[in-house]
Amino acid sequence: EEPAAEEAVPQAGDPGLVLLRRVGVVDPASLDAYRATGGYAALRRAFELGPLGTIREIEESGLVGRGGAAFPAGRKWAAVAAQPVRPHHLVCNADESEPGTFKDRVLMEGDPYALVEAMTIAAYATGCAKGHLYIRAEYPRATARLRHAIATARARGLLGEDILGHGFAFDIEIRRGAGAYICGEETAIFNSIEGYRGEPRSKPPFPVEKGLFGKPTLVNNVETLVNVPAILLGGGAAYARTGTKGSTGTKLFCVSGAVARPGVYELPFGATLRELLTLAGGTPAGLRAVLLGGAAGAFVGPGDLDIPLTFEGTRAAGATLGSGVVLALDAGADLARILLRIAEFFRDESCGQCVPCRVGTVRQEEALHRLGRAPRAEDLTLLREVGQAMRDASICGLGQTAWNAVESAIDRLGAFPLSVTTPTSPEPS
Ligand code: NAD
Ligand code: SF4
Repeated sequence: EEPAAEEAVPQAGDPGLVLLRRVGVVDPASLDAYRATGGYAALRRAFELGPLGTIREIEESGLVGRGGAAFPAGRKWAAVAAQPVRPHHLVCNADESEPGTFKDRVLMEGDPYALVEAMTIAAYATGCAKGHLYIRAEYPRATARLRHAIATARARGLLGEDILGHGFAFDIEIRRGAGAYICGEETAIFNSIEGYRGEPRSKPPFPVEKGLFGKPTLVNNVETLVNVPAILLGGGAAYARTGTKGSTGTKLFCVSGAVARPGVYELPFGATLRELLTLAGGTPAGLRAVLLGGAAGAFVGPGDLDIPLTFEGTRAAGATLGSGVVLALDAGADLARILLRIAEFFRDESCGQCVPCRVGTVRQEEALHRLGRAPRAEDLTLLREVGQAMRDASICGLGQTAWNAVESAIDRLGAFPLSVTTPTSPEPS
């Protein structure tokens, strides 16, 4: 039995929260409880503003995607809304499968109506008639709660033909993944929904132009969408005053590993890694490193704890915020074993469609196996060459990022230090 989301949220009920404010406090099965705590006021506000006015608020808010790539949400919404081809589709990416990521699960289990309302607003603003909620199969409780929320909303006129008597028609269908990491990639989701193998498509064209069933498609992550009601209720400009210029609002961080109190934490962008780890109870067994951004992310060391947790701040530090993974390794962690596990993961999850990733992830794993037994400079050189080829020539983000964590461990943490003692080729005489 998986632990319930509310047990995973150490700060539920904290008055400073935006995204987690109902989680663990308001009954997730009750539409009345949702409405009594401000639910559906944002949809009414969207109807007052109209589609263009709603998009303007999202643009003003500075909201960027929380799936990991931080693309400006308002720009995406405007691009879909402007497409003359119909119908438009909305896809909520709830295939949260980056190792160490569990924030969307907490939102879906703890505040399912917020996601249903946010999807309805997004659909209204961008002219989508149908929403597809693509959720990973490993989240049965979230799926059940969302099914219930969708059915109740439909029965109460909040989904369907004439939402709130406003003449707007929209409904949501839940589609479950089947355990493949690659099916979190947006174009692989399209293939999966359409009944094909879950393999990414080449981009461009981007989904805003040609997405699900070849039609303009808005794809947003769960956390991105759950920001939307707060933006409409407070106004985009007010939202943008929290956080930093490049990363507005608050962020959910998935803190796990060697901390005293692992869980999902909501903080304004700009808090430091040190502040977050302190909030999570510190690292009683010492700190060897922190993996930021998950398997596709990068390691930072104990000397990097003052990195501001923003998209631009982590980028400047040569790391990434990604989807908010903060995985702490204790002082005794077996780094070589962890890197091998990451490499195994990418080799397993590569869809095999393109050669750099299909072959590169295998070569990376083999080299890490050898390095774990007897570090040699040749294997480090090979790793770098393979990693660069994957980054430069893979079709999608999986292959492009499969070497990130390993590279950062070698460069920043000094993984495989014995390699420097390996003899190099003799000078030509
Ligand atoms: P991306 O940068 O290619 O695209 C990000 C989003 O912006 C996409 O929706 C894309 O369609 C859109 N976009 C980009 N350029 C555009 C343009 N010119 N016009 C219109 N739309 C445009 O990134 P991606 O491959 O979609 O995602 C990579 C991220 O996913 C990584 O940061 C990684 O951390 C994250 N990730 C998250 C999870 C998770 O479980 N949350 C799992 C795996 C990877
Ligand atoms: Fe598939 Fe990897 Fe190529 Fe992505 S990079 S399309 S996962 S083989």
